[in-house]
Amino acid sequence: MGCEHRNGYICGTATVTMEMATARDRLVDSLVATEVVTKSSTAEALRAVPRHEFVGDDQQDLAYQDRPLPIGNDQTISAPHIVGQMLDLINVERGDRVLEIGTGCGYHAAVTAEVVGDGNVYSVEYDEELGAAARERLERLGYDVAVRIGDGREGWPEEAPFDASYLTCAAAEPPTEVIDQTAADGVVVGPFGEGRQELKRLVVQPDGGYEAETIAPVRFVPMR
Ligand code: SAH
Repeated sequence: MGCEHRNGYICGTATVTMEMATARDRLVDSLVATEVVTKSSTAEALRAVPRHEFVGDDQQDLAYQDRPLPIGNDQTISAPHIVGQMLDLINVERGDRVLEIGTGCGYHAAVTAEVVGDGNVYSVEYDEELGAAARERLERLGYDVAVRIGDGREGWPEEAPFDASYLTCAAAEPPTEVIDQTAADGVVVGPFGEGRQELKRLVVQPDGGYEAETIAPVRFVPMR
């Protein structure tokens, strides 16, 4: 990865890494300034994760623009503001255990792991190829995130209960198993609805039901 500067010098990987970090900081600064991200732990997590490592070589230059990007197999990595907003909404801290439905490239899981720490993020991915690639990538980048290939509708019963859960693909209704596997007073965040989707924040009640709050209209890939 080399680039040619105005002065004609070829710069190496270290310079590129620094330029990426500067671009990343700028993006996070703008998410904080516009109050899309309100928790400092969320901002720090977004600053820490090299999003460019999660996208293809041809997408590197776009990694720090606030937009979704293709990750192959017809799937996309969410825009950074969505990842930040969802992390704010699940309201977790170090040591909390989190269930993610839809690993994709692993970026969102890595950002969550920055907050809750090693061994506390459990992610289910439907697509075998994407799941395997994400598992490898997360490990290479030093994230201890557990990835299971399977249908996220089933959650991850062996690892339940979770302090919070979120979905990165849109379900018509919140999946019952995911609600059941989230502890009372825990939060489930995700895009729900067919056709028109809304990002919702559900708070699980002691009786196993939930109270729902609608956050915003959104567009996510549908759950498979
Ligand atoms: N958080 C991801 C975004 C992934 S896009 C990231 O940071 O890259 C949504 C993902 O949900 C896709 O990878 C898709 O394959 C996955 N998905 C769709 N239906 C699913 C299901 N039933 N169970 C688990 N994952 C599913």
